[in-house]
Amino acid sequence: MTMNHSAVQDFLWDVIIVGGGPAGLNAALVLGRCRRRVLIFDDGKPRNAVSHALHGFLSRDGVDPAQLRAIGREQLALYPSVTLDAEQVVDAARTETGFTVCTSDGREFRARKLLLSAGVVDVLPEAPGFAELYGRGVFHCPYCDGWEMRDQPLAVYGRGDDKGAGLALEMKLWSQDVVLCSDGPSDLTPECGQRLRRHGIALREERILRLDIGSRLPYRASFDIVFDSGPCLHRAGLFFNTTRCQSTDLAKRLGCDRYDPQGCEVESHQQATHVPGLYVAGDASRDVLQAIVAASEGAQAAIGINTELLQEDLA
Ligand SMILES: Cc1cc2nc3c(=O)[nH]c(=O)nc-3n(C[C@H](O)[C@H](O)[C@H](O)COP(=O)(O)OP(=O)(O)OC[C@H]3O[C@@H](n4cnc5c(N)ncnc54)[C@H](O)[C@@H]3O)c2cc1C
Repeated sequence: MTMNHSAVQDFLWDVIIVGGGPAGLNAALVLGRCRRRVLIFDDGKPRNAVSHALHGFLSRDGVDPAQLRAIGREQLALYPSVTLDAEQVVDAARTETGFTVCTSDGREFRARKLLLSAGVVDVLPEAPGFAELYGRGVFHCPYCDGWEMRDQPLAVYGRGDDKGAGLALEMKLWSQDVVLCSDGPSDLTPECGQRLRRHGIALREERILRLDIGSRLPYRASFDIVFDSGPCLHRAGLFFNTTRCQSTDLAKRLGCDRYDPQGCEVESHQQATHVPGLYVAGDASRDVLQAIVAASEGAQAAIGINTELLQEDLA
C-alpha cells in the first residue's frame, strides 16, 4: 500500500507495529493475510546487525540475518494492506479509539492496536576490542554461536556463581578449554570455585585492559586478552554475560505495569499488562531471546490482535 504522507496521517490503521525484525515482520505477515491495515515502522538497527550468520532457525540455519529480513520484506510486499516506513517512532499515547504514534520527523499516526517489537540493545563490556570483535570472536549466546566455536580455546566474561561460573560450566558442552575471566573480583562462593576446579575451568581475576586482535578470518577472529598483570591469554572466542536494555521505553510510558528494561512480562498472545490494545513481542518481551522465538511471538501477537479486532467489529 502506498499513500502520501498527509493522507497517511488522517488514516486510522488497524495496527501500528514498532520494529520490523523477525517479531514485527512475522506479525505484519499474519495480519496482512487477515487483510488488516498495518503500518510497520523500522529504523534499521537490528540487534544482530554485527552477526554474519543466523543459527538455530529451521530452514534458515547459517543465513545472513540481513537476508532473513530482506526475504521477510519481499514477501510482505505481496500484501497490499501492509505499509513499511523507515522512520523512528519517538512517542506514543493512548486515545479513546486506540493509540497515537509520533515519529522523529514530526508526523503523527493513529491506530486501534499497537504492537511493540523494537528489540533490545546488548550492553558490552567496556574494554577496547569487545565492540570490534562482537559477532566475530565475542558472543553473548552459546545457543547462537557455541557450535561454531566448538573444541576451540574459549573464555567466559562474567562474575558470580550464576552469570560467571554458570556460563563457564555451560560452555564445557562446546569446549574442554574454558577460562573464566571476571575482570576484577570474581564474587564466587567457595563451593562454586571448587566446582570450577573440579571441571578444569581456570579463573583469571585480573582486570582486562583490552582484546588484541590476532588472526583475521572472514567471519571469525582470534585474539589475545590483555590483563593489567600476568600473561596474555590467546582465545578463539569469548562469551559474555552482562546485560541488555530495551530499544525503547514506550511500553513504560504507555503505562505497562510489568515493564522491565530487559524485557516486559506479557500475558497470553503477548498482551501487555494494564494497557488494553497494547502488545509486546520478540526480544522486547521476556522469554527466550532467539529469532525464531521472536517470529513466533509476532505471530501469536498478530492472532491476539486480530481476534480482539474481530470481537469489536462483529459484536
Ligand atoms: C551478535 C548476535 C548474534 C545473534 N545470533 C543469533 C542466532 O544465531 N540465532 C538466533 O536465533 N538469534 C540470534 N541473535 C538474537 C536475535 O538477533 C534476536 O533474538 C532477534 O533479532 C529478535 O528479533 P526482534 O524482532 O525482537 O528484534 P530485532 O531483530 O532487534 O528488531 C527490532 C527492530 O526494531 C527497530 N526499532 C527499534 N526501536 C525503534 C523505534 N523506536 N522506531 C522504529 N524502529 C525501531 C530496530 O531498528 C530493529 O530493526 C543474535 C543476536 C546478536 C546480538
